[in-house]
Amino acid sequence: MLLRVEGVSKAFDGFLAVDRVDLAVEKGQLACLIGPNGAGKSTLFNLITGHLRPSRGRIYFRGRDITGLPPHRICRLGIGRSFQRTNIFPRLSVFDNVQVAVLAHHRQTLRFFTPARKLLRRETEALLEAVGLADVAHLPSGTLSYGLQKQLELGIALASEPELLLLDEPTAGMSPQETASTIALLARIARQRGLTLLFTEHDMEVVFSIAEKITVLHQGRVLAEGPPEAVRRHPEVQRVYLGEAA
Ligand code: ADP
Ligand code: MG
Repeated sequence: MLLRVEGVSKAFDGFLAVDRVDLAVEKGQLACLIGPNGAGKSTLFNLITGHLRPSRGRIYFRGRDITGLPPHRICRLGIGRSFQRTNIFPRLSVFDNVQVAVLAHHRQTLRFFTPARKLLRRETEALLEAVGLADVAHLPSGTLSYGLQKQLELGIALASEPELLLLDEPTAGMSPQETASTIALLARIARQRGLTLLFTEHDMEVVFSIAEKITVLHQGRVLAEGPPEAVRRHPEVQRVYLGEAA
């Protein structure tokens, strides 16, 4: 198991936002976390990435206990994430934004000339290609459409070469068409790079068509977990969450 969350809770002033959650993600899996607003999805992501400390429970990545490690250490170990608001430099070109992230990952600076720079340049180009931004690489990032900025954020997140990528609502604010194409892009990248994905998504049609495993959170607890068909049929899930849509 690549990621294992065991009995993790997070209390905010006595309120249990995450309540004894167990969650496991296998290497290479496309796993989706769903649940109504306030279910605890973002809190759980922040616990996994080290931005919050659990009140109880343990988190293991590749069998190693990462509970309570600071975010930069967890990132170095191979868990990447995209932020709601990424550090995109709007006046820098798309290429430069990704290159800055690639250089940061390899602990290089733009001024430092080494033969490795050529490799890093190729890596930047490969990332731009992967996220579908090769054609707009020269444009200032601030001029990109919302959907393309999201793709740029993904390219930046991939620059740290994560083994597991956590994406919290990667399609927020997108039209159904943009959502479908973004998720398809994610799935393709994950396959090509052997990446494991854990993401949240509100479009149920998209979730059930693409996720290999779904975990349903409700009021901080895991309500159901399993392959899409099993989760869709789960009576509690239908009652509490999916309603008529199921
Ligand atoms: P989701 O991402 O599923 O919508 P969140 O994890 O953001 O849910 O929030 C879960 C619950 O925890 C909500 O009731 C929210 O108000 C609460 N919460 C989240 N972060 C904090 C915080 N820093 N302080 C207090 N309460 C919080
Ligand atoms: Mg959230």
